[in-house]
Amino acid sequence: MQKTATATLYIVATPIGNLMDISQRAIDTLKQVDVIAAEDTRHSGHLLQHYSIKTPTVSLHEHNEQQRSEALLARLQKGETVALISDAGTPLISDPGYRLVSLVREHDIDVVPIPGSCALIAALSASGLPSDKFSFEGFLPAKQGTRQQSLEQLANETRTMIFYESPRRLNKTLEDMMIFFGRDRRVCLARELTKLHETIETRPLADLLNWVSDDSNQQRGECVLLVEGQTVQHDVNDDEINRVLKLLLADLSVKRAAAITASLLDVSKNKAYEMALKLQQKDT
Ligand code: SAM
Repeated sequence: MQKTATATLYIVATPIGNLMDISQRAIDTLKQVDVIAAEDTRHSGHLLQHYSIKTPTVSLHEHNEQQRSEALLARLQKGETVALISDAGTPLISDPGYRLVSLVREHDIDVVPIPGSCALIAALSASGLPSDKFSFEGFLPAKQGTRQQSLEQLANETRTMIFYESPRRLNKTLEDMMIFFGRDRRVCLARELTKLHETIETRPLADLLNWVSDDSNQQRGECVLLVEGQTVQHDVNDDEINRVLKLLLADLSVKRAAAITASLLDVSKNKAYEMALKLQQKDT
């Protein structure tokens, strides 16, 4: 067993479901360090017990990270070793730890990653969507208005986009995505990864939404959504875009008319919006 060095902070990935998904190096490190900082000590107790890890734990979560980081820094400065773990997967990935790592590095203390599970990488690797370039977007805002704004900004993103999402908001998010990405954009739902009910389903957005709406089991558990980036624009001519916009502008706002046109004709939302504005200006 390789000994841990002194005065080092280890960032240790833990399983995202299946308890077997942890490296021997991670187990050895967790056994050897002086203290484990865990997002939720009770939650991690199950994993630590399973691997007979008896190292003392302290909590480090979003509400005490600032103050706890300073206390852990003091211990590191005395030469102790610390491991950081979160409830699941890789710490700092939509999980606490950023403040601790930046503080420790500012003080020239070594930070060593012990890599392992991460839901976004597991999902991407099995989604069938392009994996050469991707953008991790974390959780979308819970409020519909701000969520739609975030999606609007991504309408022309060409890389695969990866989102963490709560199963309670899955339907609403897929509906909002349809406005900005169009019904044919390929989307993957990766649910309950590494667990009993693991599901990885990639379909055109409209199809996926129907499938999820028809089967409430798909709205349970933990999930990752992956959206294919925008591919080459369809060659829809401007006359066609203007024709649809004029029809919609008779009853709808510029924003809504542009969003629907973009979705119907699979053109960029920005382009539809600019053209809708011009039409409206001509009319006034
Ligand atoms: N640090 C974790 C990681 O490395 O993936 C992510 C923590 S974040 C608070 C929790 C979110 O990750 C969940 O809401 C879900 O979107 C995703 N997630 C975690 N475990 C998952 C699993 N087994 N299957 C699908 N998604 C998962």
